[in-house]
Amino acid sequence: MNQEKEWNLDSWKKYPALQQPLYQDLHFYQETLQKLRKLPGILNFEEINKFKNEMIKVSQGDKFVLQLGDCAEVYNECTEEHWKEKFSFYDSMGQILNAIVIGRTCGQFAKPRTQLHEKDGTLNYRGDLINSLSRDERDPDPLRLLLGAHYSKKGIDTLRKYEGKQLWVSHECLHIGYESAFARQHEEDHYYLSNTHFPWIGDRTRLCEHAHSNFAKGIYNPIGIKIGSSINKNEFVNLIKLLNPKNEDGRVFAIIRLGKNKLDKLKDIINWKHEEKLNVSFFLDPMHGNSLEQNGYKIRRIEDIMFEIQQFFNILEQSNEKPAGLHLECTPYDVSECVENDEEIDPKKYTTACDARLNFRQTRKIVIFVNTLLKKLKKKQQ
Ligand code: PEP
Ligand code: MN
Repeated sequence: MNQEKEWNLDSWKKYPALQQPLYQDLHFYQETLQKLRKLPGILNFEEINKFKNEMIKVSQGDKFVLQLGDCAEVYNECTEEHWKEKFSFYDSMGQILNAIVIGRTCGQFAKPRTQLHEKDGTLNYRGDLINSLSRDERDPDPLRLLLGAHYSKKGIDTLRKYEGKQLWVSHECLHIGYESAFARQHEEDHYYLSNTHFPWIGDRTRLCEHAHSNFAKGIYNPIGIKIGSSINKNEFVNLIKLLNPKNEDGRVFAIIRLGKNKLDKLKDIINWKHEEKLNVSFFLDPMHGNSLEQNGYKIRRIEDIMFEIQQFFNILEQSNEKPAGLHLECTPYDVSECVENDEEIDPKKYTTACDARLNFRQTRKIVIFVNTLLKKLKKKQQ
């Protein structure tokens, strides 16, 4: 059975799609998607291909990726001024490691939620693509999809004018109707996603017999998959085979987010990779497995993040695997959302729309720490 032949722009619709908003006016929703499909693609195939060539170097162990940005990007910050500040922050962190830098930006507008409702019954915020942070505008609104498309294009246009080092952009491929409307065809048989270089599939939507992975398998872009602690061997192996049937370099990147107490499972995951001879490289997301609550605020501890990073490096080294990337939720602004030692957050500086982000100083500290780990590794391997 030829999986690629089987794929078309609509074939994902045969599978269940988790974490999708329900629109009251379905006709208006479908009309909106139709408008998006008719827009010119945002990124062109050459730009995606250039990115893919960089990611091939990552698969081959020659380059390290730093993937940085907000948990949820908000439309209010979709201005040239904010983007420039973020780009130069991502760029400066990347320079410390001489890394390939990918922002969680220019489209990181949709959030998966464990609970559909808040404690008082209000619908939960699902990202600016779907509804509003303000509690009286929580019904999903299709018009927000047009804004998402507008801001993605504006952000990517701003990126093209950015004068620093080459940066790439990524976001979670979550709202599957919206995302699939950005697929564009290049020549006969290459479809690619034109609204980002690097889509990733979240831990909650990565199942094999589901819509997200069956959409992504037909897209030419390199793909990230978040891997949390519920993964089992069958799921992992089938998913990697589905997304990378020819076992190519630069195709699929597992973004491990097990948390500091569950990272031992990475040893199993690496064994599955080796047993099945899968071509997949490992990033670490040391944020999402280490979320805590303090006085009603979602926080993360710097010590937990650093501990998980250290263990990640240890486990990969013991298994002869090279760390391929680090994924952090962070912002250039002076926020107080992640804490160190017995620090408490400052509610006035807690401004995230979703998860707790590292501020400039905390990000820099962690990137410098990773730099020492990468240097040690390099020395041993010489
Ligand atoms: C995220 O990256 O913000 C996120 C929701 O991640 P995960 O799918 O790993 O929970
Ligand atoms: Mn998050």
